[in-house]
Amino acid sequence: MSLPLLPGRECGGCVECCRVIPLSLPELSKPTGELCAYCVDGAGCSVHEIRPQTCRVWFCLWRAVELSDDWRPDRSGVILRPDGVEDGRMTLFVLRRSDFLFGDDVFAAVTHWIAEGFAIGLSVPGPVGTLPVRSDVTDWLRPATQADDHDGFVRRLSAALDQLDAHDFEPDGIERRYAVTAE
Ligand code: SF4
Ligand code: SF4
Repeated sequence: MSLPLLPGRECGGCVECCRVIPLSLPELSKPTGELCAYCVDGAGCSVHEIRPQTCRVWFCLWRAVELSDDWRPDRSGVILRPDGVEDGRMTLFVLRRSDFLFGDDVFAAVTHWIAEGFAIGLSVPGPVGTLPVRSDVTDWLRPATQADDHDGFVRRLSAALDQLDAHDFEPDGIERRYAVTAE
């Protein structure tokens, strides 16, 4: 899936998707959570011109939705996943428990999305080489959003993250293969 991107919005120094997304392609295979060997941390892709098609079309929602610069994943600690959004699901992939995650922006956005009828997914990564876990937290968060209860929202969000973190993370079974070359 490839969403129309916002004009003028660039990844800048963010490389989070090149770290967290697993790839299992003939020319590039890397475990979940391992920074791609072609990525220069903080700078971007060193094989940009010949990068795999998957890398050309995958963008987080911050690149496509009007949200403030603070939402950039390396700053916010949250990747808004693009999968599912066209079916009405908004998934927060939480890289770390940042002040931003528990701040006004996320509370306001999630409150708005729930009121608009979106389902809210929460996902966390496991150790490198394991699959992330995800859960639907719409009904769990809804009472706090409807009551405009920010403190209650933070408590519920923290409790949901605690539960996800306690999961047994399954190995992704991906072997490293770095073989991107020009034709
Ligand atoms: S996570 Fe989003 S902002 Fe960061 S590098 Fe990927 S597409 Fe760009
Ligand atoms: S090939 Fe480039 S765009 Fe693709 S994951 Fe690696 S660094 Fe990122």
